Amino acid sequence: YGTLDGKVALVTGGSRGIGAATALRLAQEGADVAVTYVNGKEAAEDVVRAVQALGRRAVALRADAGDAAEAAGAVDRAVEALGGLYVLVNNAGVGVLGPLPDLAPADVDRVLAVNVRGVFLASRAAAGRMREGGRIITIGSCMAQRVPGPGGTLYAMSKAALVGLTKALARELGGRGITANIVHPGPIDTDMNPADGPYAAGQTTLTALGRFGTAQEVAATVAHLAGAAYVTGAEYTVDGGHAA
Ligand code: NDP
Repeated sequence: YGTLDGKVALVTGGSRGIGAATALRLAQEGADVAVTYVNGKEAAEDVVRAVQALGRRAVALRADAGDAAEAAGAVDRAVEALGGLYVLVNNAGVGVLGPLPDLAPADVDRVLAVNVRGVFLASRAAAGRMREGGRIITIGSCMAQRVPGPGGTLYAMSKAALVGLTKALARELGGRGITANIVHPGPIDTDMNPADGPYAAGQTTLTALGRFGTAQEVAATVAHLAGAAYVTGAEYTVDGGHAA
């Protein structure tokens, strides 16, 4: 309904899953959209075509959030391609789960590089390019709030770090009218966490609604926050009651 008419959004990891659904939803609200990807060139180009079919401009950028230069550079490339930046959605993330002894130092480095350092650097670059009233929306996880079983040490640590970043960004950027918020999805049916996967039944049981969520249901809350001028430093759960 046009709340983002003519504004530019960058969605990291926008070729599939929650990121792709978010790119489309923001375009439905009137935004021009840049998406990043690493491997899914074809999928990212499909998202671009779907956004263009809605009458908005779109571009797909190959940029690894785990690479410091590429994470920050994606922001500059989006601004160059689409002429500004109003919304940054920090969505790209990797889920490396497993027993504590099995998590190698290289796993720690990779997860922190993509899930934390990439978010910090993209957010900083975005803050440098945004005018008054921008939006930084980060995808966290219900595991940042409540870890219901073993195997989540590294992933939960990475997502909990984003809560601190979000609150500190809200304080740092509030004077410019830029908001920073974090959305914590529960189990969402994507390639990362399929609703018919081996760990699905246990996750379903932990929700109050008794089902997985959809990427579109997360995207709806991201779109809400993109239009919410007086919400900042907040954690929004979209988790079917996982944290209830
Ligand atoms: P998917 O694995 O389905 O999709 C991940 C997306 O991120 C793809 O577009 C992928 O692109 C991209 N991506 C992965 N690594 C990088 C990288 N290093 N740099 C840039 N892009 C990258 O994940 P979901 O949609 O399920 O998850 C999206 C976010 O939501 C993540 O942050 C995840 O942690 C979080 N989340 C998901 C939950 C779930 O149940 N699904 C629950 C809670 C949080 P490519 O095509 O190149 O692979």
